[in-house]
Amino acid sequence: MKISTITNWAYGVTVLLTALSGTAFILSDHTVQLERQALEAHLAMNDLSMELEIGAELRTDEARLYVMRGDQSHLEAFEEVNNREHELEDKARHAEELGATEEELSHLKSMASTIDALEEIELRALEHYAQGDSTTARMLLFGEDHYALHTKLINRVKQFTRIVNVRTTHDLEQAKLENELLGFIARMMLGLTAAVFLGVLYFVLKRRVSQPLTQMTGIVNRLADQDYEVEVPLDDRRDEIGELTAAIHIFRQNGLERERLDAERRRDLKIKDLFLQMMYRLQACQTLDELSDIVSSFTPQIFPHLAGGLYIANESRNTLQLAGSWQFDQSPPESFKPDDCWCLRRGRTHTNTIEDSDVTCSHLGEKTETALCIPLTAQNDTIGLLTFENLSDDIEEINEARIYLELIAENISLSVANLQLRERLTRQVARDGLTGLYNRRSLDEVLGDYAREAETETLTCLMIDIDHFKIFNDEFGHDAGDTVMQSFAGILNETVDGAGTCYRFGGEEFTVLLPKTSQGDAHALAEKIRTRTETSTFSHRGALLGPVTVSIGIATTPEGGTVSTLRTRADIALITAKGTGRNKTVLETDPDVTEKVVFNRSDDDKNLALT
Ligand code: GH3
Ligand code: MG
Ligand code: MG
Repeated sequence: MKISTITNWAYGVTVLLTALSGTAFILSDHTVQLERQALEAHLAMNDLSMELEIGAELRTDEARLYVMRGDQSHLEAFEEVNNREHELEDKARHAEELGATEEELSHLKSMASTIDALEEIELRALEHYAQGDSTTARMLLFGEDHYALHTKLINRVKQFTRIVNVRTTHDLEQAKLENELLGFIARMMLGLTAAVFLGVLYFVLKRRVSQPLTQMTGIVNRLADQDYEVEVPLDDRRDEIGELTAAIHIFRQNGLERERLDAERRRDLKIKDLFLQMMYRLQACQTLDELSDIVSSFTPQIFPHLAGGLYIANESRNTLQLAGSWQFDQSPPESFKPDDCWCLRRGRTHTNTIEDSDVTCSHLGEKTETALCIPLTAQNDTIGLLTFENLSDDIEEINEARIYLELIAENISLSVANLQLRERLTRQVARDGLTGLYNRRSLDEVLGDYAREAETETLTCLMIDIDHFKIFNDEFGHDAGDTVMQSFAGILNETVDGAGTCYRFGGEEFTVLLPKTSQGDAHALAEKIRTRTETSTFSHRGALLGPVTVSIGIATTPEGGTVSTLRTRADIALITAKGTGRNKTVLETDPDVTEKVVFNRSDDDKNLALT
């Protein structure tokens, strides 16, 4: 029940009780009046009976004195008293106006009748006296009849007085009792009114003043501790406490807003900090794997509610390959065609929203609700794609982040372009342009590295030369020669297949370095290369180029000598292979080689000489 309802009821009860109490007081006062009236009636009644009795006696006395003295003044007094007695009798016969009861009235009437009877005797006596018969007159006035009537009158008066006394006493007691009862009721009502009033006052003070103030104090203390989670109960009070609550509510709202702005500022700073860290690391990364790790690690920190994937286009730009992804429940496709993405088709950011009527990219999962695809472009070339999916319920979040995401995409694009450029340059420096194999420069670097390391591991070197290569150039042209070279490089790569590294040493000569490979295994591999080449078909522009054969020389370190002499030793074995018929494999341990070559195993190539 509402407090206002309770207080309204309480006010109503208080008013009712006050009214009842007032009524009881009024009634109590009325009983006092009744008491007074009873007393007045009692006095009037007593006075009347006494006056009747005294008047009767006075009249008798005047009549007697007249008949005894004959003094005219007594007769006059008799008549005067008699007239007055008549008035009293008349009053007695209508005594109900004075408040007499039936019983009292009958007594009064009886008294009046007795007085009338006495008057009759006395008038008769006066008549006799007037006729000169004073004896009869005296006998009548002092006779037994007169005496009996007078005695009767006295008794009647006594009786009447007693009745009136009893009745008055009863009335007084009744009035007193009523007065006490009504007084008690009035006091009770007054007490009850006071109790209700005080109760309501206590209730109102406690519930409407004390409790809200205590509650407000607690809230203000928590707000002072910057705990803005505290709820400020708002009601429609229009008093000072209501105003206080409204002011505290505004204070809390301001605090919350300030806290929100602080949190936003901190989040912005954190995002900027993470953003800068990411950019610095992107600038310093050296491989696409490193770049992908950086993007996969930082982006979810900056945008915790976004899942994402980084795709890099292959060189021919016909496939997007997944380089890294983060926060997806189901990992995104490893690769897809550029046509599967509207952002790549249009060359600009594309928003995919399930509720939109716009087209959606087919590389996205079916359950994707909101996604953003941002192309990675560098110098008008699309080199990749960043794709983001919204994980939060707020679909606006991804749109709000769009400007930052595009900024990130721009930086990633630059880094990817730099890395790809760097990779291209490195490849150009390290590889042979015609065959794609590592060049002699790379070979020298690697051999230099091996030479600097402790030479405990086995390293075998194959030197390969295409036999009579000049013929292809001469017969089919230089381009055909190039094709033979490229085809052979393919055979070489396929056959070695990770067992070692293939180099184009120069011209139509090739080198293979086989780490941790014994001379026997190396020989088997060399034979495989040789026979594959011999049995392969070489053609250029539809023309068969004839069989191609190669000669191979093999040297091993540390068995055959140091790393520094390794290639020369293999070369000598190759020369031996050439000199002993071509299309063959010759080990440095071959007698044909050892016969012709003097090795200084502890020295470099300068000390290596043919005999
Ligand atoms: P041999 O069996 O003794 O090795 O005979 P050969 O003809 O293979 O050797 P020679 O040294 O006499 O000739 C090598 C030729 O390879 C000479 C050169 O014109 C040719 N040549 C070197 N580099 C290239 C190249 O890049 N492309 C083409 N088409 N020919 C090249
Ligand atoms: Mg040759
Ligand atoms: Mg040669």
